[in-house]
Amino acid sequence: LVRIEGLSKHFGETVALNNLTLDIARGEFVTFLGPSGCGKSTTLRILGGFERPTTGRVILDGEDVTNQPPEKRHVNMVFQDYALFPHMTVAQNVAFGLELKGMRKSEIQRRSAEIMSFLELESYATRYPAQLSGGQRQRVALARALAPDPALLLLDEPLGALDAKLRGQVQQELKSIQRRTHKTFFFVTHDQEEALTMSDRIVVMNKGKVEQDGTPEELYFRPASRFVAEFIGETN
Ligand code: ATP
Ligand code: MG
Repeated sequence: LVRIEGLSKHFGETVALNNLTLDIARGEFVTFLGPSGCGKSTTLRILGGFERPTTGRVILDGEDVTNQPPEKRHVNMVFQDYALFPHMTVAQNVAFGLELKGMRKSEIQRRSAEIMSFLELESYATRYPAQLSGGQRQRVALARALAPDPALLLLDEPLGALDAKLRGQVQQELKSIQRRTHKTFFFVTHDQEEALTMSDRIVVMNKGKVEQDGTPEELYFRPASRFVAEFIGETN
């Protein structure tokens, strides 16, 4: 479904991504794991079409989309900073992608209600993002991205602001949505436990490069480098 070929991204002197190559199969739950600044968000923004790579290509479903804008890709993203529309209510934020798809009003209503109930957002439907807590905003961002049913969902640390109980709950829910829908999830976290429990496959990043790519078991029992061993071995 996704092929990243020789992707590099430079910001002035900073090399955020260094010749990254990666394939993601349809239906996989892939987690991008690595320390702050290793290039996780940059990769996701390039996949989503919000940033152009310095070199390299992004291929979605066999089509080179490197120079295509976000709306031309069957991809949705949950941003690390949520990026909700501040002038829209929760319900309007969630409905936005459905309207873009040209869905009927009644269907938009039904689908929005379903997804808001799923993420326990019904009581906030008429509030604006500024009137919500961090965790609530995060759930709105998740609802907005899930609503249009994208083939590929890019999730940039989507659970960071949730408290421990809700976080565990949403982890299970996300995993089960992914299993039920066979959607491809590209999930970013710097939390090794979260990565180990949720993923089919984990790509460990370090300084813009892939350090190891494997199943949670492989990473845990056969770390390819000291970096991976230490990173996976860290406890929070
Ligand atoms: P975190 O876990 O903290 O979110 P990350 O792995 O998502 O980190 P990125 O946001 O991809 O890291 O950043 C990778 C590198 O690129 C960092 O050194 C960062 O400072 C740099 N960088 C990212 N965006 C920009 C930008 N717009 N301008 C300049 N430098 C940037
Ligand atoms: Mg980031």
